[in-house]
Amino acid sequence: MSGVNLSGIVKAYGAVQVVHGIDLNVAKKEFVVLVGPSGCGKSTTLRMIAGLEEISRGEASIHGKVVNRIAPKDRDVAMVFQNYALYPHLNVADNIAFGLRIRKMPKTEIEKQISEVAEILELTEYLHRKPAELSGGQRQRVAMGRAIVRHPKVFLFDEPLSNLDAKLRTQMRAEIRRLHNRLGVTSIYVTHDQVEAMTLADRIVVMNDGKIEQVGTPMELFMNPANTFVAGFLGSPPMNQLSGVLNENGAEINGVQIKLNVVIADNVGRNVVVGIRPEDVTLKAGADTSALPIELDLVEPLGSEALLHAQRDGTNLVFKADTNGSIDHLSGVKEVHVPAERVKIFDAESGQAINL
Ligand code: ADP
Ligand code: MG
Repeated sequence: MSGVNLSGIVKAYGAVQVVHGIDLNVAKKEFVVLVGPSGCGKSTTLRMIAGLEEISRGEASIHGKVVNRIAPKDRDVAMVFQNYALYPHLNVADNIAFGLRIRKMPKTEIEKQISEVAEILELTEYLHRKPAELSGGQRQRVAMGRAIVRHPKVFLFDEPLSNLDAKLRTQMRAEIRRLHNRLGVTSIYVTHDQVEAMTLADRIVVMNDGKIEQVGTPMELFMNPANTFVAGFLGSPPMNQLSGVLNENGAEINGVQIKLNVVIADNVGRNVVVGIRPEDVTLKAGADTSALPIELDLVEPLGSEALLHAQRDGTNLVFKADTNGSIDHLSGVKEVHVPAERVKIFDAESGQAINL
């Protein structure tokens, strides 16, 4: 098998296990993003692939070869970190070439590699500058360049954009994806930022507490989250989650009837979580919608749309509404309308999605 394959990967520090058996196949040329809250084991998993952490149990292979016992430098992977770890006394060209010199690549070949990668990353005019004379984004590109010239089988990224300001982060994010489209190198990218995950990934791996919650394309995970954790993690603002009970006509949320487009049949009386995405509601009733009364307590204008913050039974809810150039019509909103086909339901106890 090619690409990267993880089979039952476990990491334990002494008696404390922090990664609990990860199974994952990353196809050749695929861009996979590991996303999850801080401390869930993303970096540890990536570092086991890189060889920077020993694999406690299980097996990792790269391009069909088991790498558990192979030294990091022989795994043919290149890693880009949050802190770029550039050599401050070397200029951009020498930083990019550092790994190639160590590997004794001929000088003319090194020159060629530097100029090619500088071209790709738009660093040509900065080749003689030291890292201190560069912006954060340029330093990030140098770190990328150093990885690219090695022509590795796999790129491993650990939160490479976290040190950049919001605007630059958005810009670099697009650059990384363009670069991937151009170079097609198998990539595994770690981030805690769900927007980065959604925008960059061919497939997203949502992790929580050392385990995988769900794997799928960004839209698969957004449209069909396997459980309340994924539902609450992907999407901005996240999916609203309300406690309810299934009945013959759908679900009841504390006295309010919500229509569902699924067959309830023998699930009447089951306790559920009713999931409603902020952007799925409308302010006017539609053909197959249910009215959900809300106590609006804040309207946040974002420009073309506004966020409506509301309360229901002590739960904070957020909905999105179009402004059409003004928020005057939003301050008096007393209910939103929930389309039956967009409502998600999850088992109240297990949190798993219910597809009746
Ligand atoms: P993430 O990258 O998702 O934020 P990490 O993979 O860095 O999370 O960490 C996962 C868990 O492993 C955390 O609970 C962290 O405290 C623990 N951990 C990481 N390194 C060590 C270590 N050297 N010794 C003990 N525990 C560690
Ligand atoms: Mg980390």
